[in-house]
Amino acid sequence: MDLNQTAGSDYDVLVVGAGSAGLYGLHLLREKGLRVRVLEQGSGVGGAWYWNRYPGARLHSESHSYQFFFDPELLEEWDWSELFAGQPELERYFNRVADKHDLKKDIDLDTRVVSMTFDEGADIWTVRTDPERTYTARVVISATGPLSAPIYPDVPGLDTFVGESFHTARWPREPVGFAGKRVIVIGTGSTGVQIIPQVAKEAAHLTVLMRTPNWVVPLNNRVLDVHDMASIRAGYPDLRKYLATTFGGFLHNPGSRPTTTYAPGELKELYETAWQGAGFTKYFGMPYDVLADETANRHFADFVAGKIRARVNDPQVAELLIPDHPFGAKPVDCESAVYQGDGFGYYEVFNQDNVDLVRISVNPILEIVAEGVRLADRVVEADLIVYATGFEAFVGSLNRIDIRGVGGMALRDRWADGPETYLGIAVSGFPNLFMIGGPHGKGGHDNSTRCAEVPLQWIADLAEKVARQEYRRVEPDPAAERDWTDNVIAAGNANLMSKAKSFLYGDNVPGRPRRYVAYIGALPAFVDRLRQVEADGYAGFVLTESGPESRPKSLSE
Ligand code: NAP
Repeated sequence: MDLNQTAGSDYDVLVVGAGSAGLYGLHLLREKGLRVRVLEQGSGVGGAWYWNRYPGARLHSESHSYQFFFDPELLEEWDWSELFAGQPELERYFNRVADKHDLKKDIDLDTRVVSMTFDEGADIWTVRTDPERTYTARVVISATGPLSAPIYPDVPGLDTFVGESFHTARWPREPVGFAGKRVIVIGTGSTGVQIIPQVAKEAAHLTVLMRTPNWVVPLNNRVLDVHDMASIRAGYPDLRKYLATTFGGFLHNPGSRPTTTYAPGELKELYETAWQGAGFTKYFGMPYDVLADETANRHFADFVAGKIRARVNDPQVAELLIPDHPFGAKPVDCESAVYQGDGFGYYEVFNQDNVDLVRISVNPILEIVAEGVRLADRVVEADLIVYATGFEAFVGSLNRIDIRGVGGMALRDRWADGPETYLGIAVSGFPNLFMIGGPHGKGGHDNSTRCAEVPLQWIADLAEKVARQEYRRVEPDPAAERDWTDNVIAAGNANLMSKAKSFLYGDNVPGRPRRYVAYIGALPAFVDRLRQVEADGYAGFVLTESGPESRPKSLSE
């Protein structure tokens, strides 16, 4: 397709982002016969699994629970090699989906959206990109990803370092060697926990700069053979339905009994079984009060602290690694490998002679200098600095685009005190703009493909009504938006997660007022709410209907 010819033409829908949500969205919209274009800043598809190509990047959801379910042929064809697939396999998977469904012909790669402006006269969005092109469409769907706007430490001198440095979410495609190098890793969230053992097994020396320790549990990954895949495949008919009933679209769901109903020995056995179990068994598969009640949480956290003490040789180092916030208050991290004598477990790293742990909450980073990182007490010299410092979550990818709605209002100004949305999907004053994976919507720190499936279908249905000009404009009623926002924030503030600082409350972005930006409700309740809103004629939305004369018969003709 000649971009110069089509750049100014009127698409029905523009989708921003070719990650899992963008790909599925494109598929759904094309099935409806709509003219769709996807704009993707990366050079390939896969979103998070395109960008986060650092060594150790790996799923926390079981591979077969994370995949798409819309293509029975692909379910038959695709064999997962591990229970928790690594980044290279996931990137291959999303490319396979895109190739099989010929999605790439409707995706412009290397195309970063810089602005979107709503034309109130024509009810059309004009989208400008870098490299400079202009696209217009009736509807824009933002599928930019909840965790896609990387942030670096807010310290001076980032550009002065003379060695190599990479943010984990901007890891180069060419392999980065650690052997023989002095490496600093800043950050011990899920990403840091995955990359640190990979660095430690090769580097001449590794210094881990940790601001806050977090709870880390074993992933218990394993290779899947043909028999495993056969049995997984036999379960597919029920699996999709089951995942739709769980809290976060994971295979694991909180138990129906509280901790207090278990005898002490029974509870210990339950914890041990969970510990040996796969992935988030230790997070979403516990008695329901572990993530809700401080006493129950403390009991399980003490069990995990015991595991840490048993694995770290130096008791002082072990204490540095034990968090003082409740288990699960920050999203729980999973180590890619458990220590089984191979030396690659996260906690065992801190027993290695070539590894130092520095708690920068007591010995802060003052600046980055040419030789490395200047701490309060010394300069740590390095050949390579790894920034595993996370993301401006949920709002960052949207706020980095100049989005102008009715009256020229900028979304980033509208959200200066924190995001306000209706259903996490739409914002008043920004008609015909829909978000998936945005703030206050389900899926940001869950099994994202499962949580996005129904919302994307719902958005695609509504987008079709706008594209076919059944509605000229769709935007939330400000009262419904306020109600949704207040309720989501209140639920977030009442949760144990509020007891720790994290990206879920915007705490990691300097100068940002603390405000809950995620969504704490269960997937089935979220989906029920969407269906009810639709059944009630899109209750909570202001729908401006088009006159019959302005309705095209078919946009796909
Ligand atoms: P994160 O959880 O926000 O962790 C960032 C780390 O960097 C934290 O240890 C943080 O310390 C530290 N940090 C941030 N700014 C710093 C500064 N100025 N100075 C020193 N340290 C600083 O980010 P993440 O590890 O990238 O993980 C984010 C989310 O991505 C996860 O919760 C998960 O949802 C997702 N993720 C998923 C997978 C997967 O599915 N397999 C893998 C990786 C990540 P503080 O804790 O003190 O702020």
